[in-house]
Amino acid sequence: MDLAAIVDNWRTLSALAAPAQCAAVVKADAYGLGIAEVAPALWRAGALTFFVAHLNEGLRLRALLPDAVIYVLNGLMPGTAPDLVAARLRPALGSVPEISEWSAFCRAAGESHAAAIHVDTGMERLGLSLDDAVRLSDSRRLLGFEPSLLMSHLACADTPGHPLTLRQLSIFTDVARRFPGVPASLANSAGTLLGRDFRFDLVRPGIFLYGGVAVSGVPPLRSVVRLDARILQVREVERGATVGYGAAQRMKRRSRIATVCVGYADGLFRAAGATDAKPGAEAIIAGRRCPLVGRISMDLASVDVTGLPDGAVERGAMATLLGEGIGVDDLAARSGTIGYEVLTSLGGRYLRRYVGG
Ligand SMILES: *Cc1c(COP(=O)(O)O)cnc(C)c1O
Repeated sequence: MDLAAIVDNWRTLSALAAPAQCAAVVKADAYGLGIAEVAPALWRAGALTFFVAHLNEGLRLRALLPDAVIYVLNGLMPGTAPDLVAARLRPALGSVPEISEWSAFCRAAGESHAAAIHVDTGMERLGLSLDDAVRLSDSRRLLGFEPSLLMSHLACADTPGHPLTLRQLSIFTDVARRFPGVPASLANSAGTLLGRDFRFDLVRPGIFLYGGVAVSGVPPLRSVVRLDARILQVREVERGATVGYGAAQRMKRRSRIATVCVGYADGLFRAAGATDAKPGAEAIIAGRRCPLVGRISMDLASVDVTGLPDGAVERGAMATLLGEGIGVDDLAARSGTIGYEVLTSLGGRYLRRYVGG
């Protein structure tokens, strides 16, 4: 895990977004990369505002960063206002009942506690309806607390030219005008790249910090993860023999197969395996790209190393699944998924090394 690359990526986005503030989204254990290492590195680089999804993630982050501003994107679970306030966490309030509960808590305590108001502009997942947002803006002084952020989330920013993106921008711009003095935030990584209009007062990048593709067709920033797995043995396989569970791939020639110590329990998706009908993912061994063969097992995968010179592959050597030109999104494409899922699925059995930062 290259913390220096994450920090560099944050600095790049921060410079692009200025004068808007650049926050960092570190939900799901910093997209699987390790919040305990990633968040302090970003804080040292100058990030002041962080987003997590759950209360528990917020509590963990508060222990790591006593002075950061921390928002909890999934909002206010019933009865958890005291826990949020005790840890100075700010929920993204995304429904009328959540706002009522937070207001009641603040009034009972006689204190205003900061929270974000999340307005839906077309995602239909979390957030106030426009009608509710308008009603709220008319009765803001009855709230009992001062909103510290007005936010919404883009549904299609990763797809250039999607009409929903411009519609969301126009709706959010109108709503933001109704909340003068409240900082506004619309953009995730992809939205940040879309241009000044999308950046408002604060941007909320996640995937772009971690070396993933944010907008299809736009190259990622510095890659962050390298994933190596040991070769356990190299075997000769006769022409016509099949490799692995289900005999899913039959060798068309006499082959050398390296059996590698990584499987779907480690987040190498079973969908990235190969069959006679479709190729799978690739691994780099001895500097060369080699195809995976047959199904991926829980703890093992097989790689065809027939093309490598004799003696180039040894028991105990490494196969690289991510890095050296294989990006998170390359592996994702071979697995029928997105870079986000590859990162957040990285398993718990790896030895993790953090460098830089
Ligand atoms: C996850 C998330 C982000 C970050 O999205 P990326 O596409 O990873 O940049 C921003 N805002 C909200 C509301 C999110 O849920």
